[in-house]
Amino acid sequence: MKTTIKLINGRLTVIETKEPEPILQTNLDTTESHEDTKVEETVSNITFQDGNYHLNIGAYDKRLCPHCNYKFEKEVTRKRKCPECKNTILVKTNYELKKKMLLKEEQLDNYEKALSNYWRKQGEDRKKQWITNFFKAHGTTYEEEKRKSSSGSSNPYDIAWGMLNGIASEKAVEMQWGLFRNVRISMGDLLKQEGKLEKALFFYLEVCYLDINGATNTTNRPKLLEEYPPFRPQDGQLFPGIVHYVEEISHELNLSIKDIKVKFIEHNNRLYKGNSLVPLSADKAWVSLEKELLVRNN
Ligand SMILES: [Zn+2]
Repeated sequence: MKTTIKLINGRLTVIETKEPEPILQTNLDTTESHEDTKVEETVSNITFQDGNYHLNIGAYDKRLCPHCNYKFEKEVTRKRKCPECKNTILVKTNYELKKKMLLKEEQLDNYEKALSNYWRKQGEDRKKQWITNFFKAHGTTYEEEKRKSSSGSSNPYDIAWGMLNGIASEKAVEMQWGLFRNVRISMGDLLKQEGKLEKALFFYLEVCYLDINGATNTTNRPKLLEEYPPFRPQDGQLFPGIVHYVEEISHELNLSIKDIKVKFIEHNNRLYKGNSLVPLSADKAWVSLEKELLVRNN
């Protein structure tokens, strides 16, 4: 029985085969017990392109030089030269298997490539998980929304974007501006997650504008609308979580308060100037946000 670890679909997978592994060199240290015969192969003829590090892990566990199988008295904890063959031995961690291993210097390039692939894969997995949770939080799934979508795209971020656009228009027509505002946050979150920070910032600035204007949920029946307007600046308030996003992205993009002001006014004027429902102009609303940003800055 032979155990190998191979990279299959970007995952390290343990494979057991009956084929005997060729013994390349016998460890002459007779004090070793039977269990140790498994690692009595040298690492030399094994290719590492496929992330096959099982012998390196064995070398660490058994305290063997990966070049010549010299047996160390103590655990090898950092880079050193083998007293027997004089080759350099590196101590590295196999992140996928969470195990330490002893590497030859010539394995370093491949190890570093495998490592960066590993982190890239981790990032992709996280991104996938994020969007799955995103659909779930909106009471739906990617598959469901894909079916409803007419865009033809299969990118989950595009599908989610289309879905949010649809909900936003719906809420605006229904005079549910409180819910509309929540959808705009989700759109910002989606852009932020995609790394489109500047676009995300526009959405958070818009949410601040709607919050200062006291966006709320009402009805589109004209009679009631007079009594219950969708925006009530007297109840308006900024929410710390959203202001924090604005600060975070501005910091990341190296934006000054003046830069934020320009973006806030331009963006909100473009969307809401001439909208008679929204009482406070972008210029007026900016005063509140600026005050909040300055307070938080000190
Ligand atoms: Zn050696």
